[in-house]
Amino acid sequence: MGEARNFITQPPDFPRKTLAFSLRFALNCAGRNESKPGRENAHENTGRARRVPRAEALRSGRSRGHAKIAAETLLRARWVVPVEPAGAVLHEHAVAVRDGRIEAVLPAAEAIAAYPGRETVDLPGHALIPGLVNAHTHAAMALMRGLSDDLPLMRWLQEHVWPAEQKHVSPDFVRDGTLLACAEMLRGGVTCFNDMYFFPEASLEAATAVGMRSAQGIIAIEFPSAYASDAADYLAKGLAIRDRWRDNPLSSFCLAPHAPYTVSDDSFRRIAALAAELDLPVHVHLHETADEVERSVAEHGVRPLERLRRLGLVGPGLIAVHAVHLEPAEIELLGRHGASVAHCPSSNLKLASGFSPVEAMRKAGVNIALGTDGAASNNRLDMFQEMRTAALLAKAVARDAEALPAHAALRAATLGGARALGIDAAVGSIVPGKWADLAAVDMRSPELQPCYDPVSHLVYAAGRENVTHVWVAGRLLLEERELRSEALGALHSRELLWQNALKSHADD
Ligand SMILES: [Zn+2]
Repeated sequence: MGEARNFITQPPDFPRKTLAFSLRFALNCAGRNESKPGRENAHENTGRARRVPRAEALRSGRSRGHAKIAAETLLRARWVVPVEPAGAVLHEHAVAVRDGRIEAVLPAAEAIAAYPGRETVDLPGHALIPGLVNAHTHAAMALMRGLSDDLPLMRWLQEHVWPAEQKHVSPDFVRDGTLLACAEMLRGGVTCFNDMYFFPEASLEAATAVGMRSAQGIIAIEFPSAYASDAADYLAKGLAIRDRWRDNPLSSFCLAPHAPYTVSDDSFRRIAALAAELDLPVHVHLHETADEVERSVAEHGVRPLERLRRLGLVGPGLIAVHAVHLEPAEIELLGRHGASVAHCPSSNLKLASGFSPVEAMRKAGVNIALGTDGAASNNRLDMFQEMRTAALLAKAVARDAEALPAHAALRAATLGGARALGIDAAVGSIVPGKWADLAAVDMRSPELQPCYDPVSHLVYAAGRENVTHVWVAGRLLLEERELRSEALGALHSRELLWQNALKSHADD
C-alpha cells in the first residue's frame, strides 16, 4: 500500500507442506473435539501453560527477564480464534511460528507430527487470539491517570490536562509514560497501539524498546507546546521522525490532526495532501461532543465531518475517533467511503460525551475499531473492558440485543483496528504469513467455567487478568502474566518521580 505500510513485507516462502492451513470449524466449544476426561492428553493435569523442552530454552541462553525471539515455536492451544474467517473457533489447534511470523495453523495432532522436536508452548485451557489493537490512545497520559476526573471534556482539557502538559511534557515524560502504558497494555493482551501525543519519537523509542508494535501519530495542532511551535512545525517534525524510522518493522505512522476545534482549514488541507501523497491514514478526534458540532456550525457554517469532507479528508484512510454525534446521512457518508471509526466507549461514558451509534455504522459498512483513549479519560488501557462495554452499549443504543455480537466485538478489537491503521495485511488475525502478534487467555478460572463458547467469554466474561502470554512478531513479551521486557525495569521509581512532580503542579 505504499510507504506508510513500511513494515509490511511479503510473507516468506514457507515450505509448501507447512502452508497446510487446516480450518476445523466448530460452533461451540462443547463439541465433539473436546478432550475426554481420562483420555491420554497432553493438556491434562497442567496447572499452568507448559513450555517444553525447558532445557533447550535454557541452553539457548535465555534468562528470565529477557524477552526472546524464538525462531521456531509451536503454540498448542485448546482453542485458536483466528478472527479470519469470521466466526471460526478451532479446537485443539496449534499455531506454528517461524521467524516472527505465523507459519501454519493446524490441528494439534497434525502439528506434533509435522514439527517433531520443535519448542512447544502448551496452552491447555487457553484461547489463543490475535493480539488486541488499541486503535486510539495517548499512551504517555498514563502518567496522568486519576489526575483529574468527573469533568466534561472542555473543562477537563482546558483547566487540567493542557496546563499540566504545558508544564511537564518532555521527551522523558513521553518515554516514561509510554513505557508505563506498554506495560499495562501488554498485560491486557494488547500488541499494537495507535498513539497521538507530543514527542512521538519518544513514544516510538519506548514501544520499540519494549518490543510492542505502534502506529505513531504525526500530530498537528495549532497551539505551541514544548514539542513544536505551530501546525507546520508539528508536521515537519513528525515527517522527519517518519523518515528516520521508516525501516523499523514495529512501527507505522498516521497523520494525526488533533481535532476540528484545534486545527485550521489550511492545516487540514496540507494534511489531506500529505495523506494522498504518502498514503498515510488520518487519525482525528471527530464528532466527540455536541459542543464540538455546535461550535463548528457557528464558526464554519457546517458540521465537522462536512468540513473535513470539503477539505478532502473523508476516505478509506480516515480514522474518525469517537464519532458519537452523527446524523444518518453522516453515517452513510462514512460507510460509503469505507472510513474507519475508533470507538472509545469508556471515554465517551466518563466524559459524558454521548453514545456512539456503532451498530448503525457497522451496518452502513464503516470499519469499526476499538480504542481506550488516554488513561486520563478512561482510566484503563483495557481492551477487554472496551470490547465488553462496546458490545453492551451497542445493544442499548440500537435497542437490539443482536447488535455488535461477540465475534464482531472481537473483530473490532483486532482486525478492525489493524484495518484502520492500514496494516491488516500484516497483523490483526491468525493467518499464515502475518506477524505472530498473539495473546493467550486462560479460560480455566472459576468465573469462566463452564465454557460453551470461548468468544462469548472473551467479550462478556473474561478480563485482562486472564491474559497469560503475549507475543509480538513471535517475541514472547508476557509469560505466565510476567512481563519479559528488560526495557520495563526501573519503571516504578520513575513513575513515582512523575507522580510527585504532577501532584505538586495540581496543588499549585
Ligand atoms: Zn483521544
